[in-house]
Amino acid sequence: VSRRPPSELGRASVRAIELYRSNRSQVALDLSDNTNLRGTPPSAVLAARAADGPSVYARYPSHYGDALKRAAALRFGLEPEEVVTGCGSDDVIECAIRAFAEPGDTLSMLWPSFAMLPYFAKTNGLVPRFVELAGPERGYDLDVDALLEGEPRITYLCSPNNPTGTLVPRASIERVLAEAPGLVILDEAYAEFGGPSYVDRVRESGRLLVVRTLSKAYGLAGARAGYALGARGLVDTIEKARGPYKLSGLAERMGAAALERDGAWVASYVAEVREARERLAAWLRERGHAPLPSEANFFFVRIDDAAGRAAWLRERGLGVRPFTALPGLGDGLRISIGPWSVLEPALALLEAGLGSAEQRAAWGGASLGAGEGSAS
Ligand code: PMP
Repeated sequence: VSRRPPSELGRASVRAIELYRSNRSQVALDLSDNTNLRGTPPSAVLAARAADGPSVYARYPSHYGDALKRAAALRFGLEPEEVVTGCGSDDVIECAIRAFAEPGDTLSMLWPSFAMLPYFAKTNGLVPRFVELAGPERGYDLDVDALLEGEPRITYLCSPNNPTGTLVPRASIERVLAEAPGLVILDEAYAEFGGPSYVDRVRESGRLLVVRTLSKAYGLAGARAGYALGARGLVDTIEKARGPYKLSGLAERMGAAALERDGAWVASYVAEVREARERLAAWLRERGHAPLPSEANFFFVRIDDAAGRAAWLRERGLGVRPFTALPGLGDGLRISIGPWSVLEPALALLEAGLGSAEQRAAWGGASLGAGEGSAS
């Protein structure tokens, strides 16, 4: 028998994937991942502090994140059986893909969009198919005929869309709901910040899974808690495919507390971000940039040499996310939006980073201070 080396023992479809990496080096102000720049909401923090007994850590948690299911159901007027939880919404999406498609099936999606989707499609042996985002003249819409061509087993849309911040127009979402042959995953990771939610459609649709996260507006990215809303038959199928005990007892408690009791804290954060979004859009336009119209807590700014500019900014303490050669968009930077008081100390540096080579050369080497611009 021939014995293959460790790196060749894996499934071929998995070996072909590149390991996910992003630059996570410490910066004074991190505007690269769209998390909450004020931190974690108070009731979630209290729930974590209270979770110090052996019943939390020595014993197994509930099977399927039951407290979070109940909290999400209450919040959206559904039954707990219509909520599925996961270790981040990433996990919910991945399990849904595994549950609803066989290797070789097609996953159809808008592109550019959430970068983990092609990754999850490939780890599950699916073939991702991309439909390009239309330009401003067509309202950043997509070609629904192209999206549904070939009867995709799974159709994925994200609205507001990451990394563009644009909404998928309602008419297109309605057509997908009416005509998609398989599961429709609608990712609403940024829905707290703007645009309509389609949660009220999950019961009648029967094939719509609306995915939400606690990592963005809810300030719990490190706790890893996400959930999705869908008809009972969808939720059961995903839970079968993923098995019990995936959400930690701590994440379950923090997530449930946040959904039950931190609504006002989150709403006030969202209001601050929306106000800052207006101001930052005006600030960018005054400097000759044209951010895409965003309903999320980030802007996508088309600009040349995005990777070089992001590296330059990161060296000086400001994290932004570069994208290169995106279809229809080219290079660009995705810049998270936080409260204006958090962004303001970084604006001079950002202006230089988005400016000409001469402006950058003239910057003089000053970096954002360790405390400056960080979450308060
Ligand atoms: N969906 C979208 C559109 C996202 O941008 C992200 C985070 N980058 C996620 C899902 C995953 O978030 P999490 O796993 O932390 O819930």
